[in-house]
Amino acid sequence: MVDETPDSGDSEADGLRKIIHVDMDAFFASVEQRDNPGLRGKPVAVGGSSGRGVVAAASYEARKFGVKSAMPSVTAKRLCPDLIFCKSRFDVYREVSQQVRAIFQRHTDLVEPLSIDEAFLDVTEDQLGLGSATRVAELIRQDIRDQTKLTASAGVSYNKFLAKLASDQNKPDGLCVIRPGQGAAFVAGLPIRRFHGVGPKGAEKMARLGIETGADLAARDIEWLRGNFGSFADYLYRAARGIDLRPVRTSRTRKSVGGERTFSRDLSSGTELRDTMETIIDIVWERIERAQASGRTVTLKLKYTDFQIFSRATTMDHPVSTKEAFAVIGRSLLEEVLPLPMPIRLMGLTLSKLESDGEPEAKRPDAQLSLL
Ligand SMILES: [Mg+2]
Repeated sequence: MVDETPDSGDSEADGLRKIIHVDMDAFFASVEQRDNPGLRGKPVAVGGSSGRGVVAAASYEARKFGVKSAMPSVTAKRLCPDLIFCKSRFDVYREVSQQVRAIFQRHTDLVEPLSIDEAFLDVTEDQLGLGSATRVAELIRQDIRDQTKLTASAGVSYNKFLAKLASDQNKPDGLCVIRPGQGAAFVAGLPIRRFHGVGPKGAEKMARLGIETGADLAARDIEWLRGNFGSFADYLYRAARGIDLRPVRTSRTRKSVGGERTFSRDLSSGTELRDTMETIIDIVWERIERAQASGRTVTLKLKYTDFQIFSRATTMDHPVSTKEAFAVIGRSLLEEVLPLPMPIRLMGLTLSKLESDGEPEAKRPDAQLSLL
């Protein structure tokens, strides 16, 4: 039992869960360094080394130079002339991901993968009966190290929002625990750009409104937030207080609806790409409506002329329920990657984390707000 209720006063919904977020450290690059000792301690980028390639992952040594994933390889080489490029080996990454998944499942069936190298675990009732989420997280990190020779960072807290912030806190090879009662204070000190869902543009808008940290956000009332941020306001209001009611959802409950277009010739100009995006929005939204589906994550997929696939996703706190909302997200995902490092031959959009199976999550924010 947790004897200190979180700030919502709603301990049943929020305070009693034990959530771990596990995130492999510089995953693809670390696998390459593991399998090729000559790369250890050196700046490594996974991705195409050709003039028009893109960095898929960077080792910590490379990050010191400012090399980041999704960066054009030319830019990366300019920042770090000694950068070593490795071809991606997704079959190996997937294999490691499955090993790590098996380690998670010794402790709980409630595992929500976010990508190939990170996941949320609900260990409120851990299968080995350890009782301590921190202990579970330490064992998982140890087992990952022993079995894969790779490191992972973990965040432990009483909801997903805080657990994810915590796993990032002491990276790499780190652990951070945010206990009930500490969430609001932890969030208060955070720069606003570290809030999940607040991108560079969002952070700029916040700065113009005088909001730089979680504390600045918590000082605003819900009406002010709704006036400035619309449907995003409820999420911000709760996040600023360290509150997040989303349950951990297993992969079995996941589905997605999407569509893509392959072109007869390669596209590169902004105008053509934007026009194509509008067509894809129409096609995919029609499918979503036909499936009577809703979801919170929109993923943009691009295939470059060298057949490398690039994807970028945005996850909203609420289901994307109108075509206009879907369109706005699709367009902004595209704008974030323009100009493209090379022409593309395919573009696609997907809506996932579907909630058409009667999950009452969408209704919860109002219930929560009425308690505050
Ligand atoms: Mg990672």
